[in-house]
Amino acid sequence: MVERVYLARPRGFCAGVVMAIRAVERAADAYRAQGDLVVYHQIVHNETVVERLRREKRVHFVEDLSEVEALKKRHRLAGVIVFSAHGVPPSVREEAARMGFTAIDATCPLVTKVHTEARRYAAMGYTILLIGDSAEHQEVKGTLGEAPEHTILVAVHTQVGKDPRLADPRTVEVPDPEKVLVLTQTTLSVDDTDATIEILKRRFPKLVTPARSDLCYATKNRQDQVKRLAPLVDLFLVLSSRHSSNGMRLYELARQLTRARRIDGPKDLEEAWFEGVRQVGITSAASTPEDLVQGTVAWLEERFPGLEVMEEGEWEKIQFREPRPLPPEAVLKARS
Ligand code: SF4
Repeated sequence: MVERVYLARPRGFCAGVVMAIRAVERAADAYRAQGDLVVYHQIVHNETVVERLRREKRVHFVEDLSEVEALKKRHRLAGVIVFSAHGVPPSVREEAARMGFTAIDATCPLVTKVHTEARRYAAMGYTILLIGDSAEHQEVKGTLGEAPEHTILVAVHTQVGKDPRLADPRTVEVPDPEKVLVLTQTTLSVDDTDATIEILKRRFPKLVTPARSDLCYATKNRQDQVKRLAPLVDLFLVLSSRHSSNGMRLYELARQLTRARRIDGPKDLEEAWFEGVRQVGITSAASTPEDLVQGTVAWLEERFPGLEVMEEGEWEKIQFREPRPLPPEAVLKARS
């Protein structure tokens, strides 16, 4: 019989996700008369968010710009493209401009910071060791695209071998060990990333690390709160899409510390999970909408009358500015 639910604070949308979704919604409304909006990649890694934007705002998501021609045959497009919160390689930016798209860049500023470091150190002849969870992750592709000839992808030390395109931090080789920089994807496990950087530091004593960790505040805060709440609960529910890197790291962490289940939303809940469970923790990925959390609480309240629901922790107060549309000429001029 569940008696108490601890709702982790912070949970759910981070400032980057709020900014990116708002950018898409506003652009879809602003350009409605001209036609439909195109978004490069899932704006954030959450199926519910993507499906709602498709349905309610007539947004088309593409994984490759070559899909645009086929889209044009079936829909009237506004000629505006939004780049997702995960960022894009410069080559995609330029190709979209050459195709005549006005761009709205919803890349999270914390990802842009990593891109800037990649460009700066590549120009100084450094090798960049980029720690990521998969070569297929959109954020990794974007950062790699800034200086592909200078960058080596490296796995988190606990994930070596999962993606063969990522080097082992214990054996990775660089052309000049005196000039090496480490950068990371923003949404990895804090503890595993720190340990991986320590391995690299032992191998390359001159390794340059960013002044401030590339792991973002939202990733760190959500993981910290799972660590605090896990000892109090018999079961942790983590609301996250399978594709959300920060959400899957939250789930892995919760599973290391207590019993945990990942769900997309309340539709996935099963009564059998709660046998013998008295205290439940709930958290959600930075891209999970809050109504799915509230639906989960409502599902529990229906089955466990008298359930006590406690909010634990503090909300974040960070906000990011929304991006402005950039005409194609401006993009091409900036690159020339
Ligand atoms: Fe930005 Fe972090 Fe949110 Fe990703 S998870 S959008 S890096 S704040």
